[in-house]
Amino acid sequence: MVEQERVAEVRNETLDESTNLLKSTQIVIKEALDKLGYHQSMFELLKEPIRFLTVRIPVRMDDNSVKIFTGYRAQHNDAVGPTKGGIRFHPDVTEDEVKALSIWMSLKSGIVDLPYGGGKGGIICDPREMSFRELERLSRGYVRAISQIVGPTKDIPAPDVFTNSQIMAWMMDEYSSIKEHDSPGFITGKPLVLGGSHGRESATAKGVTICIREAAKWRGINLEGARVIVQGFGNAGSFLSKFMHDAGAKVVAISDVYGALYDPNGLDIDDLLERRDSFGTVTKQFTNTLTNKEMLELDCDVLVPAAIENQITKENAHRIQAEIIVEAANGPTTLEATKILTERGKLIVPDVLASAGGVTVSYFEWVQNNQGYYWSIEEVEEKLEQVMVKSFNNVYQTAQTRQVDMRLAAYMVGVRKMAEACRFRGWV
Ligand code: NAD
Repeated sequence: MVEQERVAEVRNETLDESTNLLKSTQIVIKEALDKLGYHQSMFELLKEPIRFLTVRIPVRMDDNSVKIFTGYRAQHNDAVGPTKGGIRFHPDVTEDEVKALSIWMSLKSGIVDLPYGGGKGGIICDPREMSFRELERLSRGYVRAISQIVGPTKDIPAPDVFTNSQIMAWMMDEYSSIKEHDSPGFITGKPLVLGGSHGRESATAKGVTICIREAAKWRGINLEGARVIVQGFGNAGSFLSKFMHDAGAKVVAISDVYGALYDPNGLDIDDLLERRDSFGTVTKQFTNTLTNKEMLELDCDVLVPAAIENQITKENAHRIQAEIIVEAANGPTTLEATKILTERGKLIVPDVLASAGGVTVSYFEWVQNNQGYYWSIEEVEEKLEQVMVKSFNNVYQTAQTRQVDMRLAAYMVGVRKMAEACRFRGWV
């Protein structure tokens, strides 16, 4: 191989490693297990899901044709308890992505100390181009295809990108029909009337808000008047902007896929919430917008990436001005950027901790379904507060005492319970 080709290949491998979610997750899992003193065989077990199912789902479309969709379900590890994690409907779903997301669900469950391992599902499809009835047939077909490996004590799905409470309702109904009994505990994120929990829709943003508050305390930043930037104005970003605004912070910039809005005096969040559409789009209605890239580098106290992965990389990490970066999105910061930001003294609250409020309230929903007794919103929020504060401080203290960055600390906390459960079961 000529030198130039080899150089290009190495560069691609390196790039791939830093932006491929599965590979970068495996790198940090390995580091965490090494720090905790586990044998290589533990890494061999935990680096991939224990079970991965690929299904082909035939769906009768409205024009009477039949379209075949591909779906996946990954179960990372069930040593602690049943696996749990959302189902994503998106044209870009890949096997590696579903696997990585299932590992992250294990880590999140470990960090907030839930009796679960991680799971994740996905279907390659574009729900924006499908009718309501086509989506129903696809959702039911997926459940029929995976029904043997899921269930309230096996693997409990939930919503994720482009899936919602209506889709959860169809899936629960299909599962209950197959099993011939009512099974609300099969899936979370359901409508309230079908056993959903109060507070589920805003749970991720609530959890992120608590993390911001705790991180600000450690950094001596008063949230009253603090300047906050939120990338993404969808489910996570819009609720979060509202909670920050209500807490007295100044949300100086927000963005969506088309661009960013900036006002150093603070944006009118209530007005923007009124104007946004169901896909989290609002900036198209304005002319004086910035790019997402420009927005990330603006001066602020707290930066919250709440859109997509790989937004803070080695290219822009040197120019990020925020004191605290709280990752509401999954994987917004590459490993190289984490290193740069940590060296620059920035405090990162990693995704597996910051966005764990969603799975926490999903767990509350499952508990309520199992006991058949339902909680008030106050009860849900009080319990979520306790869980998030404890988890944040556990990760923060681990970072301090073990002298590691917050991401590695979160992985160490997240993987420990699962590794111990594997050891006690005699698996490794
Ligand atoms: P969403 O689809 O509701 O909203 C996504 C937002 O990001 C929209 O405003 C969209 O315009 C914007 N966006 C999309 N592509 C973009 C791009 N290239 N540049 C800038 N902005 C872009 O999604 P969501 O549920 O709010 O999730 C956002 C992130 O948070 C994802 O990474 C998701 O995995 C993570 N997350 C969400 C939850 C939850 O409960 N919603 C839980 C855990 C993690």
